[in-house]
Amino acid sequence: MKNLVILGGGYGGMKVLNELLPNHLPEDVTITLIDRVPYHCLKTEYYALAAGTISDKEIRVAFPEHSQLNIKYGDVIGIDQKDKKVLLNGEDPIEYDDLIVGLGCEDKYHGVPGADEYTYSIQSIEKSRRTYSALNNLAPGSVVGIVGAGLSGVELASELSESREDIQIKLFDRGKYILSSFPERLSKYVENWFVRHNVEIINNSNITKVEEKTLFNHDQAIKCDVIVWTAGIQANKIVREMEGEKDRLGRLEVTPHHHLPNDEHIFIVGDCASSPHAPSAQLAEGQAEQIVEVLKKRWNGEPLPETFPPIKLKGVLGSLGKKQGFGMMAERAITGRVARLLKSGILWMYKWHNG
Ligand SMILES: Cc1cc2nc3c(=O)[nH]c(=O)nc-3n(C[C@H](O)[C@H](O)[C@H](O)COP(=O)(O)OP(=O)(O)OC[C@H]3O[C@@H](n4cnc5c(N)ncnc54)[C@H](O)[C@@H]3O)c2cc1C
Repeated sequence: MKNLVILGGGYGGMKVLNELLPNHLPEDVTITLIDRVPYHCLKTEYYALAAGTISDKEIRVAFPEHSQLNIKYGDVIGIDQKDKKVLLNGEDPIEYDDLIVGLGCEDKYHGVPGADEYTYSIQSIEKSRRTYSALNNLAPGSVVGIVGAGLSGVELASELSESREDIQIKLFDRGKYILSSFPERLSKYVENWFVRHNVEIINNSNITKVEEKTLFNHDQAIKCDVIVWTAGIQANKIVREMEGEKDRLGRLEVTPHHHLPNDEHIFIVGDCASSPHAPSAQLAEGQAEQIVEVLKKRWNGEPLPETFPPIKLKGVLGSLGKKQGFGMMAERAITGRVARLLKSGILWMYKWHNG
């Protein structure tokens, strides 16, 4: 039997499972999925979990069941490429014939002193739960500082402003406008929403240090009861520590067939894989589909195409609380209720397909 080991049951890992099971797995191949969480988590909704507007259970999806699938609950601590083994914390290593690394990403603190120690995070389910607890135990009138007004910072700030109208939210962003990767019109729309909902935006900010309950913006101290960091991500530490060329987010460079240039048995998917695109769940799923194509062709002894067609990304949608949204679909900016309904619809479809 050959063992295909998948590290991480996130969007990339889950897509591989759903494509291969139940019909496309040869009889002589088993899959071992390793994750530190016993179910697939809908990371795109962590902002709502942290804000307290959805329950933990709503963003869990059970992993599939299949006679050729073993699910291993555990903490990956490294990969021994030479001996083709995955190293686990406190448990025996697991051998692989083919390996797919989809361990997602972590916060990137850009060397800001104290940021790692004194800020909360929404990059993992465990951290989002801690953030939920901190935010929802705050006394009325408390101040929350959110650092970084990209998609996740904006979603968290807006959701929290609806969840806790009794607290003060300050959203810090480096840019002249928030959501700098979106057209200015969208940024303005979102800024106006924040003005109407009493969220203070601090543009052109530069967080130079963080201490307990204090942010330093251009070295000026600002007291906050809770500080949440949404100002950057990088590939999972396991991937950052692997040998190989990486991009500025620590994502490993891969071939057009999504494997390491020097090891055709190690595939990299999702937030761990270098790509011209920003990390996203859609991208992880697109890469996973192509990895499955490579595996199926190899198992069948068929030739591989030299390259795959570019992965089609449908767009980006963000929420502003439960009723309004914004985004880019087919290169067109959309705002308001329609954007929010589309976002909810996509989530519903995802759960329906995976549930
Ligand atoms: C608030 C927020 C909103 C977002 N909104 C969108 C959106 O609207 N659209 C979109 O496309 N993308 C969105 N994203 C980005 C998207 O969530 C990620 O790009 C996507 O989750 C990447 O998928 P992945 O498979 O690479 O990793 P993940 O989905 O992060 O999965 C990684 C898995 O690895 C496991 N893991 C990690 N380390 C270890 C370890 N050492 N040992 C064992 N298991 C481990 C984790 O438990 C997890 O199950 C959002 C992200 C956030 C934070």
